[in-house]
Amino acid sequence: MLSNPAPRFCMQCGCAKVALRIPHGDDRERHVCADCGYIHYLNPKLVVGTIPVWEDKVLLCKRAIEPRYGFWTLPAGFMEEGETLEEGASRETLEEANARVAIEQMYSTISLPQISQVYVLFRAKLLDLDFSSGSESLDVKLFREEEIPWEELAFRTVHETLKYFFADRKAGVFLPHVGELRHPKR
Ligand SMILES: [Zn+2]
Repeated sequence: MLSNPAPRFCMQCGCAKVALRIPHGDDRERHVCADCGYIHYLNPKLVVGTIPVWEDKVLLCKRAIEPRYGFWTLPAGFMEEGETLEEGASRETLEEANARVAIEQMYSTISLPQISQVYVLFRAKLLDLDFSSGSESLDVKLFREEEIPWEELAFRTVHETLKYFFADRKAGVFLPHVGELRHPKR
């Protein structure tokens, strides 16, 4: 399922005469209002978040919402309008884990073309241990590498990112990872 549902009503004039057609000068079908001509561009969504690190541990959140209720994830969510990538990543970390971080590096960028999403996850330094579950989390905990609940991770993007993170840490250098997941089961 793509990230954006097709509009059933025109966002501009409210009428229901929205139909797929190729606007003049464009090269693909768009949802165009037959009444006022407004073109509804549907574009991928950005999911921003952090890998909050404290000493040799990483902070994970147990999801209190669907999808993947009860599974563990890195704090991340949809970017809001009017914010930067870093602001969005910090905000999501604060909302889901009540955790304050210092952003260190844009680390993992993963395209999910089939659901029209792009994940951008930053390495971040956890500033204190005064974290707790936000409204979207059942639990928030620090994990050493050997404690990571690999079988209970919510999303493949999180799995990939943590795999890269621990491999890079072993190698002593954190290189940004740009990847894609073509057939995400989740
Ligand atoms: Zn309209």
